[in-house]
Amino acid sequence: MGNHALLSASSSHRWISCPPSARLCENCEDQSSEFAKQGTDAHSLCQYKVESALGIDTTDPTESLNFYDEEMENCAESYAAYVMEQRAIAMERCTDPVVLVEQRLDFSKYVPEGFGTGDCVIIADGTLSVIDYKHGKGILVEAEENPQMLCYALGALELFDGIYDIDTVSMTIFQPRRENVSTYTISKIELLQWAEEVLIPRAKLAYAGEGDFTAGEHCQFCKVKATCRKRAEYNLELARYDFEMPATLEDEEIEAILAKADDLTAWVSDIKEFALQSAVSGKDWTGWKLVEGRSNRKYTDESAVAEAVTAAGFHPYEQKLLGITAMTSMLGKKHFENILGSLTYKPQGKPTLVPESDKRLVMNTANQDFKDENEGGQSNV
Ligand code: SF4
Repeated sequence: MGNHALLSASSSHRWISCPPSARLCENCEDQSSEFAKQGTDAHSLCQYKVESALGIDTTDPTESLNFYDEEMENCAESYAAYVMEQRAIAMERCTDPVVLVEQRLDFSKYVPEGFGTGDCVIIADGTLSVIDYKHGKGILVEAEENPQMLCYALGALELFDGIYDIDTVSMTIFQPRRENVSTYTISKIELLQWAEEVLIPRAKLAYAGEGDFTAGEHCQFCKVKATCRKRAEYNLELARYDFEMPATLEDEEIEAILAKADDLTAWVSDIKEFALQSAVSGKDWTGWKLVEGRSNRKYTDESAVAEAVTAAGFHPYEQKLLGITAMTSMLGKKHFENILGSLTYKPQGKPTLVPESDKRLVMNTANQDFKDENEGGQSNV
């Protein structure tokens, strides 16, 4: 989970990539988004579920959660089940594995004032496992070389290396709303080497407010992302692209634009949002004005509407089939499969162009089949 240290584990990807961003963001207001609040609720529920499963005396937080819903309940349940599964695996190697929930992890040996909170740490002879729950579904989070996880692992190592004989460190991101369980395992030696070669020098620069500003996808988590000059320059490089001749773009040029398109659109929408919020707070932008957007008529009182329509002799409600998620919640997963397994299907997804590094399989298109057949035919000649 996040915390407020200058060089926190949760923001480490950003300050390792762009060290001076840490001091630049230091005095910016922390705007806790609805998503962040939802995440905090989900974490409380996860903590409760795991502690209950471990037989620890704990209090059910459900009543005080503003964002509690069935999906959150299912996510927390599956997280607790995963933790218990990992504990059972650890018990095969070691009779007394330690499971820590919401553990403060101090990695200040490597990063000035560095600490964070690990959702779950399992320590057994041989392997140390750090598990982090992510409730968000917007961005798929991978464990591989994830600095936040590496920082947590260093903090956990500080607590237990020496007491347990640890040679391997395993880090897992559990992100149920993306059906993502991503695990990255490295040796303790590799972890310490990363700390020496990457973490310590970058943290030193960041703490001192030094180093080069470097823009990239990490900017999306930066508090100055809308007004940062480096990010603007980075994105405006595209505008300087030499589009002179010929009149239409070459393939390489389109590819170059594609590679920057996501960053560019994210940046533009951050600027628009920043300008809008400033205008709402009273700022005048020369050449721009604030107007009311389009809106649709709404009922003032739904039950009064239903009554009035019924009194007029009509039926005011429509009957709708429950969606798959709601139906699954009502029936339970197993029941759903038994009753409706043969009555569901997964339509082909919309074609999406992604970088080659994306893990999804290449989509089969009619054109591709035609090409393959032709190429196959020619080679047979
Ligand atoms: S927006 Fe990007 S380049 Fe600018 S300070 Fe933040 S991380 Fe660095």
